[in-house]
Amino acid sequence: MLNWDEPTTPSSTSTHSPRPSGQPGLQVSSIGETTAAVTRHVASSATPSSQAAAPQRRINVADKRIINGQTDVNQLVPFKYKWAWEKYLATCANHWMPQEVNMSRDIALWKDPNGLTEDERRIVKRNLGFFVTADSLAANNIVLGTYRHITAPECRQFLLRQAFEEAIHTHAYQYIVESLGLDEAEIFNAYNEVQSIRDKDEFLIPFIEAIMDPNFHTGTPENDQTLLKSLIVFACLMEGMFFYVGFTQILALGRQNKMTGAAEQYQYILRDESMHCNFGIDLINAIKMENPLLWTSEFKAEIKELFLKAVELEYRYAEDTMPRGVLGLNASMFKGYLRYIANRRATQIGLEPLFPNEENPFPWMSEMIDLKKERNFFETRVIEYQSGGALSWD
Ligand code: FE
Repeated sequence: MLNWDEPTTPSSTSTHSPRPSGQPGLQVSSIGETTAAVTRHVASSATPSSQAAAPQRRINVADKRIINGQTDVNQLVPFKYKWAWEKYLATCANHWMPQEVNMSRDIALWKDPNGLTEDERRIVKRNLGFFVTADSLAANNIVLGTYRHITAPECRQFLLRQAFEEAIHTHAYQYIVESLGLDEAEIFNAYNEVQSIRDKDEFLIPFIEAIMDPNFHTGTPENDQTLLKSLIVFACLMEGMFFYVGFTQILALGRQNKMTGAAEQYQYILRDESMHCNFGIDLINAIKMENPLLWTSEFKAEIKELFLKAVELEYRYAEDTMPRGVLGLNASMFKGYLRYIANRRATQIGLEPLFPNEENPFPWMSEMIDLKKERNFFETRVIEYQSGGALSWD
């Protein structure tokens, strides 16, 4: 998955090499960080007189860094992180909007007293209860947290697109709630009122707050690890695991020709989220490669504990949404699935599998990610937005 396009060793011609990771005493002041984040960057070593005497030096691609970079964040090119740019292009090629999906069959089925069982209705409501706020959480994490700490403009370009996609997803869930005429207060307050949803959000929120704090800046090993941990939690555990019980349930309904409009929306969202997860994993691995000192055995042990906690929380959510077997699914099948996903995410960022020898109980989910294979699956109007370029699925 990783595709480094350029060597990462600093250029010998650089006059202001980036701060080496892990080197004490090099933390940039808050003013310096803010400047790096939003404006043309002036090397911290430059004095006012030397700035006046020499024009801004042009960017050397070898100086670019994912975090703690000193190059101008406004200059997208020269490209260094082409994998990020290519993912940005791929996500744009997948553009879709919720109101283009026909919801009339879902509305008729929902209003028919015999259309769905109580357990199936519970799944839909619990699902929307989690997702109507989850993607806002993800968007706020990017915009108010992650974005300013990432100093590679190629990666920022992807994050901007990702933030918009999170908005589209929130729109899609709202559109389903409105179409079905659900109790909006019940659904939108579920993250405060339903314990299994609240627990997942409470697990995530500290990792957003840590990097949103205006006094938080990268540049020390401890703070760089805080950012890296937040990125791992969001890519591997939020987008890469906390979404998957819900996605599987709604897509299982669609496979039984029920709630096909909602299922189609979820299928587009799943495709987007797979890309977010893959981008996040590439970002994490690129940061690890540029800052190998961050990947300590203590840090890995901490990440492993977070993975185990996330599996537990998502399993509790599965139990809460499925008190009995429904749609050929039951909560214990999800135990295996979540362990399988946890192994996959762990190995994608270079950790050992947490639960050896777990198999995927839902192989059809992998096919669902690839819309090109399933474009007429729900026999609804599927618009193939892919206009060119190569999608790279895991
Ligand atoms: Fe996402």
